[in-house]
Amino acid sequence: MDFTEKALVLRVGRFRETDAWVRMLTPTRGVLTAFAFGGMKSRRRFPGCLDPLNLVLFKFGSDRRGRYLNLDEGTLLHGHPVLRRNQRNLGVAVNCLKFVEAVQVASEGAEESYELLLSLLSLLEREVPQPESLPLLFRARLGFSQGYRPDFLSCGECGSLVGDFDSPRFFVEKGQVLCPSCLVDNGAESGLPMSSGSLRALDWIMTHPPGEWPRLTVPPTVRQEFSLAVERFMAYHLGLEWEGGFFRNV
Ligand SMILES: [Zn+2]
Repeated sequence: MDFTEKALVLRVGRFRETDAWVRMLTPTRGVLTAFAFGGMKSRRRFPGCLDPLNLVLFKFGSDRRGRYLNLDEGTLLHGHPVLRRNQRNLGVAVNCLKFVEAVQVASEGAEESYELLLSLLSLLEREVPQPESLPLLFRARLGFSQGYRPDFLSCGECGSLVGDFDSPRFFVEKGQVLCPSCLVDNGAESGLPMSSGSLRALDWIMTHPPGEWPRLTVPPTVRQEFSLAVERFMAYHLGLEWEGGFFRNV
């Protein structure tokens, strides 16, 4: 199986003296790992390619039995040079790469995730006010896109619009918002109390490209609710928790 595909490099590891493995996000196959035998030595086959944050056009092959993928050669398309020189934005980018790797994006949803990551990196190529707020928004957008996309703007049972009723609650397990009347019908399950402002912010992130995210200003209370909903949802549906600089499986 030989093919050529663009890939955004997430992580590179070295083994033996000159070999490397490369984990990357591709637009049609999702997250892949492939081996670059001799990759650490060969400037001719992988010129400037084998580093995280690089967008590379790779030529893939596989071993004879098709057990693993290897990289035959690569052409660097974009290395995000401005982002690399900006320590603050670089930290944000690395955090988002780790999340993509932890989610293990499959081929379904790969294109959306790929486009999303590339637009985020292109946003980080410029000066952004408060870049530290971006990883949470990125996790929300990518996580909620992985097949569980909730409707944040109406009650999941009766369809009443958020804003037309008080005290909406978000149910992580079902990925649904419920109004107080439907909550009673559903028994005593509590759900997360959310303001309509937080629900609108979540919806806004799902429907606007990263380039527009710096326009979103949220008060601290909204940010807290937003963050709690995102982290709970990721833990429940994707089995991921952020701890000490890494995503760990829960
Ligand atoms: Zn309802």
